[in-house]
Amino acid sequence: MKHILFVASESLPFVKTGGLADVVGSLPKALTSNYRVSVFLPLYSSVIPKLKEAKAVVSFQITTPCIHQPATILKQTHDGIDYYFLQHQGYFERDGYYGYPDDGERFAFFNLACATFIEKVNLSVDIIHSHDWHAGMIPLLSRVVFKHHPNHKNIKHVFTIHNLAYQGQFPLSVAKECLGLSDQIINDGSIRFDDGVNFLKSAIVYAHKITTVSPSYAQEILGVAFGERLHEVLRLRQYDLYGILNGIDTTFWNPSEDPLIPYHFDSETLENKIKNKLALQKKLGLKSSENTLLLGVVSRLTWQKGIHLILDQMSDIMGLDVQLVVLGSGEAHLEHGFRHMVEKYYGRLAYVAGYNEPLAHEIYAGCDLLLMPSLFEPCGLSQMIAMRYGTLPLVREVGGLKDSVLPYNSSDQSGTGFSFKDFSISDLYHVLRMAVYLYYHYPSEFEQVQRNAMNEDFSWALSSVQYAKVYDSL
Ligand code: ADP
Repeated sequence: MKHILFVASESLPFVKTGGLADVVGSLPKALTSNYRVSVFLPLYSSVIPKLKEAKAVVSFQITTPCIHQPATILKQTHDGIDYYFLQHQGYFERDGYYGYPDDGERFAFFNLACATFIEKVNLSVDIIHSHDWHAGMIPLLSRVVFKHHPNHKNIKHVFTIHNLAYQGQFPLSVAKECLGLSDQIINDGSIRFDDGVNFLKSAIVYAHKITTVSPSYAQEILGVAFGERLHEVLRLRQYDLYGILNGIDTTFWNPSEDPLIPYHFDSETLENKIKNKLALQKKLGLKSSENTLLLGVVSRLTWQKGIHLILDQMSDIMGLDVQLVVLGSGEAHLEHGFRHMVEKYYGRLAYVAGYNEPLAHEIYAGCDLLLMPSLFEPCGLSQMIAMRYGTLPLVREVGGLKDSVLPYNSSDQSGTGFSFKDFSISDLYHVLRMAVYLYYHYPSEFEQVQRNAMNEDFSWALSSVQYAKVYDSL
């Protein structure tokens, strides 16, 4: 059995800020029948209380011109998967996860410690599957810096881009002083970008195979519009680039058993979904009304997610017979916008800031439509989760949204949601009106679309086979 080591900065059930954690938390489980899978993560403060049975495996020193630090690796097995945690109090035991001035140094340490761990402990790793920029230096370190070490020599590298917009771009000193790379490596064009070093570019250059999280996004990132200035580098690797749609953990996201929602339901008992709506309205101070269409947003509030289209269109949206619940934090002006709107639409609009897992479940269960008008969307998981809970996604036709949401077709009641093409307020509003019209005037058709959505298979069954093909091609 091949041994695959996942390296990432977050993974459920230990730490999550976004979809990356869902994927790293659920894909290994789907692979365990054919592979041995382990996961390597940083040990953040928030993870420590969850490591009741963790044992130290090894300790060593990382030494580069600017880093002289000890590293300890702890191991805990969960659901048959070995999780290895990199412990370093100063770098990782902080209140947050990212966005610190020393992120370059912290994640240089993370990459170096992972490569050193493999050198020190013979885990018989065949493939390292690293994820996003935080682990972007692993292929280079393993294939160039540690290449003569027997534990590294035969390792193949897969790298997954979950979001090209986040690249890990740092001053050159991070490459030279923190990673301790030679001038030759730094100056050969493989890792430099603008005046600095780019972790994501390095991974694109050095990984044997690159994947991203939907077929459409794999195409989109080869062009200027979505390529985030790395499209030329990606084009050089396009024959090793695969777009594989993410799955979701359908056991965790299961409306007929979800412990975080008040009333369980499935596609044949949609009347219980309405009870969740009433419970949500009550909880959030919205007017209790089972027949009013409830719109939901569960998202990071960033420019990527097109949230400003909703805010800019609020008068028109609230001019329809709808209520809206928004959960999420992010850019201050977007948070402020919703806070302001709550006063204006008291009893019809609820805004909850922050990251709130239980409330997210209640929103997926209680809403009728989920808005996701993203500017770009590598894959998107919220729309898949929403569909599983019979909450129809209204999305922009981009990236993984395009690959996972089949737009409603009135001629045969097919479709699993609603979609629009141009990133414009008027297109969003036009489709929203159509969905609202269907809800009020053709409720049995609306229900049919809900059933279509709930009956879609968003598990990892299909996509894990595609990952297996990539692994086996190495
Ligand atoms: P992202 O770009 O943030 O990774 P995805 O749609 O791929 O977007 O994944 C988002 C994941 O994070 C989903 O599981 C969604 O339910 C969850 N999520 C997003 N915002 C919040 C929040 N404020 N509270 C709880 N869960 C959230």
